[in-house]
Amino acid sequence: MVDVTADDPTADWTMPGVYEVAPGIHRIPLPLPNDGLRAVNVYVITAGDTLVVIDSGWAIDTAREQFAAALAALGAGFGDIERFLITHAHLDHYTQAVVLRREFGMRIALGKDEQPTLDLIARDRSKGGSPFDGRLWAAGARALQERLAAVDRRPGDQAMWELPDEWLTDRDTVRVGQRQLDAIATPGHTRGHLVFLEGATGLLFAGDHVLPHITPSIGFEGAAADFPLRDYLDSLRLVRALPDTRLLPAHGPVGGSTHKRVDALLEHHDRRLEIIYGMIERGASTAAEAAGAMTWTRRERTLAELGLFNEMLAVLETMSHLDVLVLQGRLSVTEVDGTRHYVLADSP
Ligand SMILES: [Zn+2]
Repeated sequence: MVDVTADDPTADWTMPGVYEVAPGIHRIPLPLPNDGLRAVNVYVITAGDTLVVIDSGWAIDTAREQFAAALAALGAGFGDIERFLITHAHLDHYTQAVVLRREFGMRIALGKDEQPTLDLIARDRSKGGSPFDGRLWAAGARALQERLAAVDRRPGDQAMWELPDEWLTDRDTVRVGQRQLDAIATPGHTRGHLVFLEGATGLLFAGDHVLPHITPSIGFEGAAADFPLRDYLDSLRLVRALPDTRLLPAHGPVGGSTHKRVDALLEHHDRRLEIIYGMIERGASTAAEAAGAMTWTRRERTLAELGLFNEMLAVLETMSHLDVLVLQGRLSVTEVDGTRHYVLADSP
C-alpha cells in the first residue's frame, strides 16, 4: 500500500512512492533495469478529471507495478491517463508509454525531431550493426567498436519503439484541463528533446535537459545531429533566458532554481572544452585518443574503468566537444578514411 506524501528534496529521491510536488502535480520515481541512473521520475498532472503524465518509465515489470500502485494511491489507474507527454525517445522515458498504450489506448505525444531516430531504429533492426558505428568510426574508436560488436547492442525490443500519436514542435501549447503547459524544443541530449513549462506555477518539467546532480549525455541517439553539443549549449542558454523556474528533473530530486543549475552546467562544459583542447595540444589526434588520455566522472576514473556503454558515451561526447572547438575556430579537423583528426587551428 502506497500513500501520497509531500516531496522532500533532501530524502532519497529514488524511494518508491508518490510525492506531491505542487497542487495537482505528483512525482513517481520508477526503477530502471540498470543501476546507472538509479531511477526515472514520471510526473502526474491532474486538473479536474484530466490526468496527463510526463514521461513513462522503462517498460519493465517492476516499473509497471510501482507505477500502478502510485496511481492507485491517487485514486486512479492506467485507464485514466489521457495522454503521455514524452520529453524524448530514450528507453527510460518512452517505452512504457508504448506498451501501456496497447492496453489502455491513451495518446502519446513526442517531439517531432525524434522521428529520424525512431525511423532509423525501425530500418536498422533488420540489418544488424549499431546506429553508433558511423560516429565511433569517425572518433577513431576501432578497438571499442570491436568490443561493442561482441555484445548485443540492439536498442531493446522493436515493439517498444512504435511511433507516437502526436508530434509536438517548439512552443506548442498543451492543455491539461484548466492548466497550460508550453512545449519548448531543447535539442542536445537528443535532437527532439522537449521541456514542458508551466508558466502559471513556475515549474519546469526538464526531462534530461537539466539534471541536478549529473551532466546529461549529449547526442546519444541513432540519428544524431551534426553538432549535438553546440545544440545543447544553445538550449541551456535558451532556458537561462526564460524566467527562472523550479526544476523538476527526470533523474534526481526536485530542485530549486533552474537557472542556478544551468549556470553550473555551462561552466562544466567550458571547463571540459579547455581540458579537451589541452589533450589535442599535448598530441592526441582523434576523439578516442583524447578521451583515453582524460579522466572521467567526479571520481576521476580512466576511460577503461567506465564500462563498455559509458566508454562509448565518453568517446562520442569527446568528439562533440572537439567539434565545438572547431566551430569556435580553436581547432581544425581533417578526415582521413572517415576518421576525424584534430589539430590546433594555428598549427601548420
Ligand atoms: Zn535520456
